[in-house]
Amino acid sequence: MTFEELGLVPPLLKALAAEGYTSPTPIQLQAIPHALQGRDVQGIAQTGTGKTAAFALPILQRLAANPKRVGPGGCRVLVLSPTRELASQIAESFKSYGKFMSGLKVTVMFGGVPKGRQARAMAMGVDVLVATPGRLIDHMQDRTVVLGGVEILVLDEADHMLDLGFIVPIRKIVSHIPAQRQTLFFSATMPSEIGGLAGAMLKNPAQVAVTPVATTAERVEQHVIMLETSRKRAVLFDLLMGPAKGRTLVFTRTKHGADRVVKYLEESGLPAAAIHGNKSQGQRERALADFRSGKCRVLIATDIAARGIDVDGVTHVINYDLPNVPESYVHRIGRTARAGATGVAISLCDGEERAFLRGIEKLIRAKVPVMVAPGTPAQQRAA
Ligand code: AMP
Repeated sequence: MTFEELGLVPPLLKALAAEGYTSPTPIQLQAIPHALQGRDVQGIAQTGTGKTAAFALPILQRLAANPKRVGPGGCRVLVLSPTRELASQIAESFKSYGKFMSGLKVTVMFGGVPKGRQARAMAMGVDVLVATPGRLIDHMQDRTVVLGGVEILVLDEADHMLDLGFIVPIRKIVSHIPAQRQTLFFSATMPSEIGGLAGAMLKNPAQVAVTPVATTAERVEQHVIMLETSRKRAVLFDLLMGPAKGRTLVFTRTKHGADRVVKYLEESGLPAAAIHGNKSQGQRERALADFRSGKCRVLIATDIAARGIDVDGVTHVINYDLPNVPESYVHRIGRTARAGATGVAISLCDGEERAFLRGIEKLIRAKVPVMVAPGTPAQQRAA
């Protein structure tokens, strides 16, 4: 299923292409159709699953379908977020996805900074306001924000809101929003207090959930090698000749990347095959059959191409590139350690991918141990 098939309009599709998103994540596939129809949604999803786009995209589409002006201090969409970091990220996401929609106004407010600028940003009204609860209540008391025109309410990371003691402020905020609205409610877990809050806020919600992925990760021995981009090819070759001698699946982010890796390995005398969207069905089947039979012990794949493949006995997964969706990392490494077997996953991380690594570590709630590349000279190992 593509973003186009989900029914998203061209300005959004263009923005998604610019972001480099090729296909929707599972939470996006599940939530977007309901949200586009105007239904309430109750979603169980962790950060890293693509949940921000799962609510931001349908919201932007609904705003564009029915343009409206808002009064001073007003907003059409209110997104409540527990922390300033998350609030800023959500506001940035709305801006990126909405960049080809004319005149979209998005603003963010949180505590710890002066209120004046935030109040000025609200003076003419905005389309989307992303706020932390405490600061929003301050502005409501100052009458610099009025919520009587809110059409869509989003509550993000509800369980985190509970941990931070925000449930009472949230109930107060919600009491100022018209009951006739659409509500999208997201939480990583659904303890009973959160279930109660959801019950009070939502009307006949569509329930969507992506399975917690963190547990898969616990069964796989994981390592990361920090290196410059230019060393990746040689290090991959050394890994395949040394520690990763078994049946190894190598992931790249792009189809071209996959082809380049195959070419390099073949030139170095190591037979490898690639499967990705540009290969014909016949080519893919042949590559898979060779990998299954052991004729070719290295298979290079992109995330999407790898989705349908089920090969037993994969001993190693090597992430030649780190995925930009943290959840993909867990899906990738879950290709090894099937059926109780142990598996090893080694990721190559260059300077630009460090942010992806941090996202992954947040999702799996663990640090990936750093290992030195095979063939690294002793003095460099010690450094
Ligand atoms: P979130 O769970 O909303 O924090 O998103 C996690 C990361 O995945 C963010 O860096 C997004 O930019 C990225 N992302 C979200 N949806 C997609 C997609 N369909 N394809 C690729 N990356 C995505």
